[in-house]
Amino acid sequence: MSLVSDSALRRALARARDGKALDVTEVTVLLHARGEHLDALLEHASRVRDAGLRAVGREGIITYSKKVFIPLTRLCRDRCGYCTFATAPHKLPAPFLSPDEVLEIARQGAAMGCKEALFTLGDRPEDRWHQARSWLDAHGYDDTLSYVRAMAIRVLEETGLLPHLNPGVLTWRDLQRLKPVAPSMGMMLETTSRRLFEEKGEAHYGSPDKDPAVRLRVLEDAGRTNVPFTTGILIGIGETVEDRAESIFAIRRVAREYGGIQEVIVQNFRAKPDTAMRGLPDASLEELAATIAVARLVLGPRVRIQAPPNLVDSEYALMIRAGIDDWGGVSPLTPDHVNPERPWPQISLLEERTAESGFQLRERLTIYPEYVLAGEPWLDPRLFAHVAALADPVTGLARPDAELRGLPWQEPDGGFASAGRVDLHVEVDTSGRTHDRRDDFDHVYGDWTALRDRLTPASSTPTPSPTTPSPTAPSDGEAAGGVTAGGASDGASLTGAGAASAGTAEPGATGSAASASPGAGSDSAARVAPGTAAGVPAAPALGARVVEGAAADAAHPGTGSAGAAAGAASAGASVDGVAAGGASGGASLTGAGAASGGTAESGATGSVAGAQSGAVRTGGGTPGDVRRALRRAAADPGGLSDAEAVALLAAEGEALDELAAIADDLRRQAVGDEVTYVVNRNINFTNVCYTGCRFCAFAQRRTDADAYTLSLDQVADRAQEAWDAGATEVCMQGGIHPDLPGTAYFDLAKAVKERTPGMHVHAFSPMEVINGASRTDMSIQAWLEAAKEAGVDSLPGTAAEILDDDVRWVLTKGKLPAKEWVEVITTAHKVGIPTTSTMMYGHVDNHLHWVRHIKLIRSLQERTGGFSEFVLLPFVHTSAPIYLAGIARPGPTAQENRAVHALARILLHGAIKNIQCSWVKLRDDLCRQVLQGGVNDLGGTLMEETISRMAGSENGSYKTISELREMVEVTGRPVRQRTTEYGVPTDERLAASEASDGVCKSVRRVLPMA
Ligand code: SF4
Repeated sequence: MSLVSDSALRRALARARDGKALDVTEVTVLLHARGEHLDALLEHASRVRDAGLRAVGREGIITYSKKVFIPLTRLCRDRCGYCTFATAPHKLPAPFLSPDEVLEIARQGAAMGCKEALFTLGDRPEDRWHQARSWLDAHGYDDTLSYVRAMAIRVLEETGLLPHLNPGVLTWRDLQRLKPVAPSMGMMLETTSRRLFEEKGEAHYGSPDKDPAVRLRVLEDAGRTNVPFTTGILIGIGETVEDRAESIFAIRRVAREYGGIQEVIVQNFRAKPDTAMRGLPDASLEELAATIAVARLVLGPRVRIQAPPNLVDSEYALMIRAGIDDWGGVSPLTPDHVNPERPWPQISLLEERTAESGFQLRERLTIYPEYVLAGEPWLDPRLFAHVAALADPVTGLARPDAELRGLPWQEPDGGFASAGRVDLHVEVDTSGRTHDRRDDFDHVYGDWTALRDRLTPASSTPTPSPTTPSPTAPSDGEAAGGVTAGGASDGASLTGAGAASAGTAEPGATGSAASASPGAGSDSAARVAPGTAAGVPAAPALGARVVEGAAADAAHPGTGSAGAAAGAASAGASVDGVAAGGASGGASLTGAGAASGGTAESGATGSVAGAQSGAVRTGGGTPGDVRRALRRAAADPGGLSDAEAVALLAAEGEALDELAAIADDLRRQAVGDEVTYVVNRNINFTNVCYTGCRFCAFAQRRTDADAYTLSLDQVADRAQEAWDAGATEVCMQGGIHPDLPGTAYFDLAKAVKERTPGMHVHAFSPMEVINGASRTDMSIQAWLEAAKEAGVDSLPGTAAEILDDDVRWVLTKGKLPAKEWVEVITTAHKVGIPTTSTMMYGHVDNHLHWVRHIKLIRSLQERTGGFSEFVLLPFVHTSAPIYLAGIARPGPTAQENRAVHALARILLHGAIKNIQCSWVKLRDDLCRQVLQGGVNDLGGTLMEETISRMAGSENGSYKTISELREMVEVTGRPVRQRTTEYGVPTDERLAASEASDGVCKSVRRVLPMA
């Protein structure tokens, strides 16, 4: 008997029929459909599926993948109650299949026409079983995933089969390591039910990798890494029907945001005799059909939905009616090791049954056709040839006549041929960039609308996407054969206030952002707090929770263990227990005002947790709070609490002058009066990058008009020119070009050192370090040691942005998490490579994020002593994608710039001596101001600054020594050229730089008057 009313079911079915947005409650109701209601549900789902197939030119086709199953290890650290795959070491001849065994299975599969090698294995068995650890040690692998990686390469090279990796929970870093060796990967979400994980006796109890939050994070990290990813839900393991509905919505959220979910498996639990859950009844096939149909309606026409054909008895037609378009992997050789009692159907039988429902069965590859055809960034260039050998170039499906043969897997030779607009470093100042955005703007950063929805979680209503989706990103509201599938919101358009770029809103709007753009959609616009400046894009709500590495104890510098601890305050928490802002509950600590200093209400209502950054110019507190904080800053600079520091960021007028004076005194105590600079050259060796940093206007796709890559000779030539102009340093950073081998960075360093042995090589951001280490499968430490040997003298501490993942995952799609940044930096310090430290601020962050970021830097410095300076990088918004998309605000205000430079000096007093401002991002007058408020260093002459110029900075791409001196002159402070390490350059270097005025001739162009 159904637990829901007939009328509720009819209502939900009518909405499904009409393509209306379905919410969790309605979906839960629909999951109960049986009998005639189930028939109606299946009919609606079929229509959506058919429309989706028509849209991709596969009308009437249901796919499958001919695969061979490689159970690399049946050991697992988890203990799932239904699993018959995992076992104990004593029941196995060896903890892992040997390489020969792997290859034997793969060869047999290839001989039978398989094209996929499905690597299925337990989660990190070495963490639980010493036998697994010993086996890996004996065979020279750091961990199970290194062995997976090695075997995937062997299979590619010796059989031509395409690996699909199913190794359980993967970290962001694991995904970077594995992406070059497998065209697709997968992990079932299974369920979002926490009860099953947390309660004793439930299916996932005692299985650390079955924490739904962990598994959702894997799906997100796969999306961020552009990995075509298979996931799905498992029904009948003790979850509720609501849990099922929520699990489907959770998958949809990730699919929409990143476009990387290539298929969703809806799998039914089948009890196995030798498991703890053997007494539980199987999920019924009607239940399975209802779940598939609901998944189809929620996920929409673009997502491929699969039911494993060996688990559906003879109900093939029912599953097809429910809306599947794929039967998954079917093996003519190996059993389903996860469901060994249920053999795969013969492919000929599957073909017959599929035809009986009016569909044709066609073979696909493990990577779905949409991703095959899209190519980059979904497919690593190292796999292009392997996939091309098997794929039909028109449909992206498997070629029936494809011949399996091993092909070499190797690091690409490319990456160093000079290509593209190699004069961009000069032309950015003359003819400028070709377009204001890259050609794949609509999808390289993920889906903007989904991102906005994530930032406004109250919005549970699906909304249409105004952008072109990624290969299979569900596009709600997409017309699907007369059905608006996946649920367009009922007439709610979401262009959001944020969609307006600066200047498009009505001048004079003084109220909420919603008023700035009449009719602009709901959500983000409506939620912007009062005080928004006219024309300023609404920014998202972000909690001020500090994550990874931001130590709770960072609030007390000197006592902390350096960033290791998890973030302290959770969203909504008060700061340090101090009533910041003097206001009770909701005292304003928000970040950041878009309004210019002094125009918004001090103490305007915001949220302690942070924040609609961009909306409100913070109220850091009452004047009394600021005064108290100033007194504390003067007496105990490093001891400021979070609330006091946030209060200081709101200082204005005389209080701001006083703050600057305190910082100026501390600067004098720390480093004296000298203002320093280095004569250096930036060499950005490529701007091709698909990482998807949403603030970055520098990165281009390979085929964009402004894309370029320098050859090693060109890099060396530029270093030589810089040397001739008196430089002591080159700063090298570039895009994460998919063609670059992991050793490319070593070659770059060597190329510079060979040509200019005396040059200090300041090179490679932590993102590049991770990229290099991942591609070579080296540890970070080993990679850094090799980089040092190749000539890297110090690392830029860039890629830090704000060291809070809540902020980072808005700012970037795929860049490294905060924890990884900390690991790279501290490892660099450990192996004797000093680094700078940076903070890019004024986008979607708030003041509390800044304070915690600076405190984290301090705590790291107390631990390692490896930072040479702290560099403040105001966000340059003009061409930044996240600004163009209407999500970030247009950079910090002048008041904020003064305040945060001073605060950095105060908070870092006694730890980091050198505080650097960025003339690239600040105008000269602002540089002068901050020089009188704690700053002692101006960075370098740079010679060719392209990154900020591409983002719209108007402060030029170089500064001569004369210009730097002129900038400082009015302050009356002495100016001194320094080395990277703040020493004194040799007389020969000083003479050479004086002669060139710190900038080589080739980059000096007459700037246009306009
Ligand atoms: S910041 Fe670096 S990693 Fe990110 S998109 Fe730009 S070039 Fe790529």
